[in-house]
Amino acid sequence: MISLTQIQKLLTDSRPETLEALAKDAQRLTEQNFGRTISLYAPVYLSNYCSSHCTYCGFHSLNKIKRIKLTGEETRKEMTAIHATGIRNILLLTGESYKFTPVSYLKEAAMIAKDFFQGIAIEVHPMQTSEYQELYTTGVDGVTIYQETYDKVRYTEVHISGYKKDYDFRRETPARAAAAGIRQISMGILLGLSDVTRDVYELFCHLREMEKSFPGVEYSLSFPRLRTIKGREFAICDIDDRTFLKILCLTRVLFPRVGLNLSTREHPKLRDHLLGIGITKVSAGSNTAVGGYTLKTIEDQDPQFDTEDKRSVAEIVAMIKSKGFDPVFTDWRPIENKA
Ligand code: SF4
Repeated sequence: MISLTQIQKLLTDSRPETLEALAKDAQRLTEQNFGRTISLYAPVYLSNYCSSHCTYCGFHSLNKIKRIKLTGEETRKEMTAIHATGIRNILLLTGESYKFTPVSYLKEAAMIAKDFFQGIAIEVHPMQTSEYQELYTTGVDGVTIYQETYDKVRYTEVHISGYKKDYDFRRETPARAAAAGIRQISMGILLGLSDVTRDVYELFCHLREMEKSFPGVEYSLSFPRLRTIKGREFAICDIDDRTFLKILCLTRVLFPRVGLNLSTREHPKLRDHLLGIGITKVSAGSNTAVGGYTLKTIEDQDPQFDTEDKRSVAEIVAMIKSKGFDPVFTDWRPIENKA
């Protein structure tokens, strides 16, 4: 495993040849392990109720936004619109509220999602193993859970109140999801929250730990950078594009078979450039507000964060093809998902 000092050295090395060599290795390993394919997914925000206060998020409990959660009928409407774009992998998102979005609500949403999508992942509050098992038997096959930062002091500063304050419970979440049988687990850190070197190193250690304990799981990593919310800065992300690129390349070199996700937080130009280097999955046509696809006008929306890449799914598909890659809508089809 790479040491903390080695990561630090690499991230502060400004010589162009260092990045060039790293990018070449990353490109070769990505092609070797994933071919020239890029998977696509879209998020659907089901609810913005949240009992936690995280300083960087537009859904936090003290923010005066209109709180809503989709009814079954509204969920179906949103999913119909996403399905029409060709998307077959869906990520169901909520704020973190056990009260407003309990397991029963998530199960209902997953049941509806099964009518439209082959891959169903969730990004919701951390749960117990038995709850993940319930969702797994309903059809959920992926869990996304970011630690945000592994710096415990900083973690406490930015997670002011609510369930998310519990650092240890969150860190153990990927293991609980894996123990429940979840097939795909996505982990990550929010770049800009704390010291990048340490966070990257700790994330790598966490992933290695997971690979050893649960070798059958398909893992992917994400490195979202802090974004504005409705134009307002909550924190400045000082991770420039070169450093960002180095982090992705290094991840690929150390974990050749791990998926790398890139969301619409990033600028289209950068997203296009990164395709050939290490990214294996991108979100497309995303809306980060509850009901944002069909129920609300842009002015009425309260997004979780601002997206940079506003292109439609069709435009993303055309771009992927123009770069010599195959866009993949379905890379998994469940046969039977019963425990
Ligand atoms: S990051 Fe999650 S837990 Fe924190 S305020 Fe946003 S939705 Fe709530």
